[in-house]
Amino acid sequence: MDRIGALPKDIKQKNDAEILRSIAGQRVFTVQDIANQTKISRLTITRALERFIEKGIVIQGGKGSSTSLGGKKPQEYSLNDGRYGISIAPSGGETLACLMSFTGEEIDTVSFMFPAALTYEAFIEKSAESVRILMKRNGIPQEDLYGIILCTGGIIDRKSGIFRTSSIPQWGNDLHAAEDLSRMLGLDTRIEIENVSKVCSSMLRFSSEVQGKRTAVMYADFGVSITILEDGKTLESTNDVNGELGHMCLDPHDEEACVCGSKGCFEVLISQKRIWKMVNAMPEKEREVLLKNYDGKGDIRRYLLEEEKREDGKAGELCTYMADIIGMAFRNVVLAIDPDLFVIQGVFSYASDRFLERIKSVVRENKYLKDIPIDIREESRELSEMLKKGSMNIMLSSILEK
Ligand SMILES: [Zn+2]
Repeated sequence: MDRIGALPKDIKQKNDAEILRSIAGQRVFTVQDIANQTKISRLTITRALERFIEKGIVIQGGKGSSTSLGGKKPQEYSLNDGRYGISIAPSGGETLACLMSFTGEEIDTVSFMFPAALTYEAFIEKSAESVRILMKRNGIPQEDLYGIILCTGGIIDRKSGIFRTSSIPQWGNDLHAAEDLSRMLGLDTRIEIENVSKVCSSMLRFSSEVQGKRTAVMYADFGVSITILEDGKTLESTNDVNGELGHMCLDPHDEEACVCGSKGCFEVLISQKRIWKMVNAMPEKEREVLLKNYDGKGDIRRYLLEEEKREDGKAGELCTYMADIIGMAFRNVVLAIDPDLFVIQGVFSYASDRFLERIKSVVRENKYLKDIPIDIREESRELSEMLKKGSMNIMLSSILEK
């Protein structure tokens, strides 16, 4: 029970998040600076900052400059740049272990093989080795390392630190990754496990555009995920399947089996493999024209999205196909959870306005939805950048929630 006069827990968390949001990116700030940016009272801000100091997120600096009226000098604060987190995540065909400060600054990175190229045991061993290298190379004592976030694909039970169903089939299921890494490291530090797409969507955790809203975040790369956020927070559910909407069935007659075991999954219908199949089925002359600017290695979907901006034609037709599939998926999302906002990350964040309008028109084909406003925003950032920011936000959230 909260003591009398204390704020209820959810309001406290909301205020904490808003205060964190206002101080993120600022080198030095005062209570008044935060009060100016938020509608939170100075007393509540002061209490929150005391908690943040206790938790090691914020440190007190020297007294600020005197006001022109000669008033009392305000206390200055800053984010604690002497505490660190490490994120370990697959990105661009390898695994990156990145050391970051609480202020979001990247200090150092080491890389090793992509998880799918390793056994589970070797992955844990390499992860531990990377943590040791990063700490030693940068002279970070154990007490200054707040925690480690290990990101991978599949169904992850974050609370228990277990990979329930790994996206790497040869690893098997129910892997106690947090415990295994902790044992391998022999360090008393917090270790969290999270799904890659949830880490990406967590980069929006403290963003003002998602506050007070229900947001559906689509991320597409090798797979496709749609993760639901409430007020910036990943919605927790009994079976940890939030994020798995890439496996909604959009065509029960489709022949290709998905990694999940079903057929006709959203992610299969707009996979690179599927688009290549469509490109390769075209008459040779048309295909040559379509691929005349293709570099031979990039994501074919990204290429088509860029081509469609230059000229219509075949690239336009294939983009219309992809927009129609995404439109069907978004229509189901609207019917199921009615989000205030869609955010697109990954490959399709480079789509044209025309592409987005096409998605909206497909959603509105349903008569019940024909006049609804649909807000779709694109967030075009590199995966590695999203993972770093998302990991840091997960760490800060877990400190706040403790
Ligand atoms: Zn599937």
